[in-house]
Amino acid sequence: MISVALDGPAGAGKSTIAREAARRLGFLHVDTGALYRAIGLDALRRGGDPKDPAQVIPCLEETQITLDFAPEGQRIFLRGEDVSQAIRTPEASMAASAVSAMPEVRQFLLELQRDLARKHDVIMDGRDIGTVVLPGAAVKIFLTADPKERAMRRYKELVAKGEPVEFDTVLREVEERDYNDSHRAVAPLCQAEDAWLCDTTGLTLEGSIQAVVDHVRQKSGVTG
Ligand code: C5P
Repeated sequence: MISVALDGPAGAGKSTIAREAARRLGFLHVDTGALYRAIGLDALRRGGDPKDPAQVIPCLEETQITLDFAPEGQRIFLRGEDVSQAIRTPEASMAASAVSAMPEVRQFLLELQRDLARKHDVIMDGRDIGTVVLPGAAVKIFLTADPKERAMRRYKELVAKGEPVEFDTVLREVEERDYNDSHRAVAPLCQAEDAWLCDTTGLTLEGSIQAVVDHVRQKSGVTG
């Protein structure tokens, strides 16, 4: 099995690029952010504080997260309910960032992620895939872009969905999540030593996808 670890900060386009690159290569795309989002959403729905480990950790055993890989992409279920859309709100993003700082949460999700990589050729996107989850991955990519450009992409996505947002708010959230993700004690966001740095500032989406596909082909010898 071939594993591609794709890490990087929020809004670098990881999921969109990974989904399409995986389709072209015939790999499974695993969006690991969705797992943290589902746990964050669960905490919010229970009326708890996603920042409080005493409220989040005891509920993990009842969380029951399952993934489904349809041709149009990954879907995620929380106790059987499809929450693929519900996890995409700004509240769920912040809750995901909060719960992801807890070592127990990361440990809880570790085996699920490794198990998928044992069974399938994967492009797994996240923050700690090349450093912690799949340190032996055949290909490691660290995808980034300027924070203003990442915030602008996210802002346009939200506006297109009809969400009433201000650009400055989105930029603040991107910067806050960057800070949280790279300063937490456990598995902070950082580039693996052996990862290829791909900066997509100024690149088109197609240009970024092609760069990733070319790199995976070159490193892994996959020709598909
Ligand atoms: O990638 P996405 O923005 O959906 O991730 C949501 C949050 O989950 C991130 O801000 C990050 O805190 C956390 N995360 C993580 N490790 C991963 C994937 C996501 O800590 N592998």
